[in-house]
Amino acid sequence: MPSSPLQWSKRSLTAQAMGHVDPVTKGVVMPIHVSTTYIRDEDNAYSSGFIYGRPDNATTREAEGVLAMLEDADAGALLFSSGMAAATAVFQALNPGDHVVASKVMYWALRHWLMSEATRWGLSVDFVETDDLDALRRAILPGRTKLVWVETPSNPLWTITDIAGAAEIAHAAGARLAVDSTTASPFHTRPLSLGADIVMHAATKVLNGHSDVVAGVLAGAKADEFWGQVVTIRKGQGAILGPFEAYLLMRGLRTLHLRAGAQARSAMDLAERLSAHPKIARVLYPGLPQHPGHDVAARQMENGFGYMLSVQVSDGEAAAIRTAARVRLWKRATSLGGVESLIEHRASIEGPGTPCPPDLLRLSTGIEDVEDLFGDLDAALRSA
Ligand SMILES: *Cc1c(COP(=O)(O)O)cnc(C)c1O
Repeated sequence: MPSSPLQWSKRSLTAQAMGHVDPVTKGVVMPIHVSTTYIRDEDNAYSSGFIYGRPDNATTREAEGVLAMLEDADAGALLFSSGMAAATAVFQALNPGDHVVASKVMYWALRHWLMSEATRWGLSVDFVETDDLDALRRAILPGRTKLVWVETPSNPLWTITDIAGAAEIAHAAGARLAVDSTTASPFHTRPLSLGADIVMHAATKVLNGHSDVVAGVLAGAKADEFWGQVVTIRKGQGAILGPFEAYLLMRGLRTLHLRAGAQARSAMDLAERLSAHPKIARVLYPGLPQHPGHDVAARQMENGFGYMLSVQVSDGEAAAIRTAARVRLWKRATSLGGVESLIEHRASIEGPGTPCPPDLLRLSTGIEDVEDLFGDLDAALRSA
């Protein structure tokens, strides 16, 4: 790589992990740094910058560099041991008494944490339909609201929030905007360039892409006091991603553009074909013109509309569960973003109180042959 690698596209830089080579062997893949401690110099300094394994690790830092580049994050990126560890660090950087506005339709485990643990922490959280910017504006408590948290497209209805609009509302009230961009990934959306202050991903999903690492990441627009607090929290709580997982994540990330592109093309194809299917009442996918968030999605997403879609089965909940039971190629499992396609009856896992319709099946599109994916689903729907 030339001395200024930033002249290359994000795709090129990601494929080569920013062009780093091992300075000792000239290997094109960096070694995995497993040491938990580092030698102090004779003059008592730590000239390498590394002291101990809980605040920092060179392998983790390598993947963070690629993620910061992908998100145009001036403050850099921080890897955590899970998506939840990353998300909750943002809320823990707030003070007791602070008010938070969050998307009503969002990742279930985080919504649950906000309703229980965040409340015990002293935060007050209001959930609103953030796809409606007027509703978001009305939910802001002047002087008290310190954070707006949106997920877009959001689980499992793929509701779209206008990131630039939400940023304007948050900033006018002196609050920050954080975006859970897991299902968009930097391949489709870069929230920081639309005005968000922090972007979060469950790197467990499409960033790693192979269903074999649990990881989370935060990327920050500005290295301000709040970001410093998040860094302190990761260090203090010991939530850093380990070097082996960071290596696997880096290996997965190299093919992000190829995987995410193929997955989005297949998801669009499936959404169109399932829209015309006699056993499907409704397809939820932001790429379809009839999706309520389509216009905003078309503005703020690029390279397609992501790998996630949901369908509502015409014959209701029991038929939806039977369909999930009868597929053979689709894997019946939770999670999303891997190279293998997954199907899930979402209401069953979310349990009582879920806003998820009972007849809904969530589909995470992988990289298999789309004809096989459609054929398998079609056969299961017709026999259910
Ligand atoms: C999976 C997921 C999370 C949580 O990530 P974990 O790595 O499972 O902790 C958060 N948000 C979204 C949108 C997710 O899909």
